Amino acid sequence: MGEHGASTLFPADRLDRAASAADASGLDALLITPGADLRYLTGYHALPLERLTCLVLPARGPAALVVPRLELPRAQESAAGSLGMQIVGWDETEDPYEICASLLRMAVDGEPVAIGVADRMWAVQALRLRDALPAADQRAAGGVLRELRMRKTKDEVEALRAAGAAIDRVHARIGEWLRPGRAEAEVGRDIAAAIVEEGHVQVNFVIVGSGPNGASPHHDTGPRVIERGDAVVVDIGGATAEGYCSDETRTYVVGDAPEGFADYYEVLRQAQQAACEAVRPGVTCASIDAVAREVITAAGYGEYFIHRTGHGIGLEEHEEPYIVAGNEELLEPGMAFSIEPGIYLPGRHGARIEDIVVCTETGHDNLNLVTRELIVIEA
Ligand code: ZN
Ligand code: ZN
Ligand code: ZN
Repeated sequence: MGEHGASTLFPADRLDRAASAADASGLDALLITPGADLRYLTGYHALPLERLTCLVLPARGPAALVVPRLELPRAQESAAGSLGMQIVGWDETEDPYEICASLLRMAVDGEPVAIGVADRMWAVQALRLRDALPAADQRAAGGVLRELRMRKTKDEVEALRAAGAAIDRVHARIGEWLRPGRAEAEVGRDIAAAIVEEGHVQVNFVIVGSGPNGASPHHDTGPRVIERGDAVVVDIGGATAEGYCSDETRTYVVGDAPEGFADYYEVLRQAQQAACEAVRPGVTCASIDAVAREVITAAGYGEYFIHRTGHGIGLEEHEEPYIVAGNEELLEPGMAFSIEPGIYLPGRHGARIEDIVVCTETGHDNLNLVTRELIVIEA
């Protein structure tokens, strides 16, 4: 199902649950501008433009979606149109901040004293809202919404599974493009086209890190020409029409693996597998990171594993929960996140293996199914 019309992906009770969470946090309302939070709460995928679009969600009282008049039809035909809330169009000469403020005053029957604003709200919008609601202390809404967004519904898990299957199909085709004599950027362009062909509507990122570039975890693509004997880290992701993201890394070797590479690839594979298998309800995010790190450290590569083990994923590529030392959040069924340890030898080469997993009642469900064995491209 696309973003139009009522969808089980965006259930109507989500607004109520967010309102209750705001109430429990001592907030009079949440004010949510375009972004993943707005899409999560209403199913409306609004463009982040200079004209204000804002969900006014009082802790107690009716919600309203304030949109520029010219975007009213689009808002009404999105899932937001079937949630039973008022959608208010504002005219070019009106002040939408004042409209939000008066809707909110009516809902709370007075002057709001604490409001949660979307984490990704533009500063200029937060400042205009402060002028319109001068008595209201502004706080980040993310602390309230994380509790909901972290725990995926069955429908969300299926949407993530579809995204995972789509990116699996792209990895299964990498041999078509990853060839000696081709620049990373050329390979990256082909991969980007395939991300769309295989079932995404948006390319979020394409990392093709060949040779020494593989040791830079967030390298994107560049002019380097792939050579026989390179290890190549390919980390790719996109978003489906439903808005859910994929993110999967596999490491390839073109021809024979470079010197020293085989020594650690198997260590990495075992670390990634052990971390996946450690996933179950009631264990901490930090403990999953520790499982991967211990395997890599025991083999003598600890100093080359320079980032956290993973991040949550959903309507955003990176969201909570973060799989990192110090995060004592307990895993619960429905939490979805990456398990992506890496080993990076500066100036030489690197490797990363990344899957998206979902915590289930008893363990984990892996949404990426491409082999995690080293993939050799004959060249
Ligand atoms: Zn990353
Ligand atoms: Zn990734
Ligand atoms: Zn990732």
